Amino acid sequence: MQELYLVSDGVCRLHSAGGGHPERPERMDAVAAVFDDCRSDPTVLLDEGRDATQEEIIRVHTAAHYELVRDSQLREITVFDADTAANRHSYAAALRAAGGACAAVDALFNARARHAFVGTRPPGHHAEADRPMGFCFFNNAAVASEHARARYGVDRVAIVDWDVHHGNGTMHSFYEDPGVLYISLHQFPLFPGTGRLEELGSGKGKGYTVNLPLPAGRSDSEYLFLFDSLIVPLLDRYRPQLILISAGYDAHERDPLGSMLLSGAAFGAMTERLSGVAARHARNRVVVLLEGGYSLRGLELGIRATIEALLADAQRTTTLADGHTVVNSAVEALAERAAHLLRRQWGEFSW
Ligand SMILES: [Zn+2]
Repeated sequence: MQELYLVSDGVCRLHSAGGGHPERPERMDAVAAVFDDCRSDPTVLLDEGRDATQEEIIRVHTAAHYELVRDSQLREITVFDADTAANRHSYAAALRAAGGACAAVDALFNARARHAFVGTRPPGHHAEADRPMGFCFFNNAAVASEHARARYGVDRVAIVDWDVHHGNGTMHSFYEDPGVLYISLHQFPLFPGTGRLEELGSGKGKGYTVNLPLPAGRSDSEYLFLFDSLIVPLLDRYRPQLILISAGYDAHERDPLGSMLLSGAAFGAMTERLSGVAARHARNRVVVLLEGGYSLRGLELGIRATIEALLADAQRTTTLADGHTVVNSAVEALAERAAHLLRRQWGEFSW
C-alpha cells in the first residue's frame, strides 16, 4: 500500500470564470509545484483520478442542477451568479474535481493508499443541491461522502472544513443527517453569511453540524486551541470511519480574500491532528480536498505543509510558536459557548 494518493488533472486548468477572477487557472501551478516534488517519492502514487458519474452527482444535486452545469459546455460563457461563471471547460473540470474525490475514496477503501490529497478545481463547498454558488459547481466533499456511504457501506463520515468561508452547501447537504458530522471553522461575518454557532443541525442530525464562526485576525495557536479543546475530542467521540478535509487555504495570512493570520505550518499541524483521529478510528483514511486559497504563495505553502503532515508519522503533534500563545478571549468564549451547546449530544468538554 502506498502512503499517499495524489490526484490532479490538466482539465482543471482549463476552467476559467473570467479574467481577473481570484479562482483562476494559475492556482493549479501551486498544486503542481508541490506534486512535482513528490514524483520521486516511492511511497506516493500520482494519478489523474476520474470523472464523476451522473449517478454520483445526483446523490447530492438535483437532476436539473446537473443538467444546468452540463449544458454550460455548449456556450463560451455561462454566468450563474455575480461570483460564479463557467466556460466551455468548466463542466469537465467540475466532473473531474468531484470524480477525483470519489477516486480518492476508492483508493483508500481498496487499500491502494493510506491518505489522499485531491488537488483539483473548481472547489465545491458552496455548491448547493440545486445551484452553483461561490465559485463552486458540484459539491465535491458531499459527493465523496455519499460515494463512501453508497459504495463502501460507511456509517460515519466526518468533514472538517477549514476554508476561511463557511461551507453552506456541504452543511445543507447533511443538516438532518447524523451519518455525516460537519465541522467548520470560518471567518464570520464573511461570505456566504451562514455558519452561526446556533446552526447545529436539525431532526436526527441535531448536534452533527458544528460551526465555529471566528472573528478576523485569528492565528495558528487559536485554531489549534479549537482543534485540541473541541474538534479532536468531538471526533474521538464520533469515531468516523472516513475523514474528509475541505481544505481551503484562504485563512493563510497572505490571502487576499480572507483576513486570518495562519502560517503555512498551521495547515500541517491541523492535518496531523486529523491524521491522529483517523489512525485511531478510520484505519488512517483521510482525504484532503482542495477548496479555496487565492494567494498562490500561501496556497503552495499550505498544500506543502498538509502533504508533509500526511507523509509524517500519525503520532506527531506539532505545537507552533507563532507569538500568539495567549488565546483571544473571544475565541475562548466561542469554545465555551460551543461546548455548552454540544454537551447534551456529546458530553462535557474540558481544557
Ligand atoms: Zn474560501
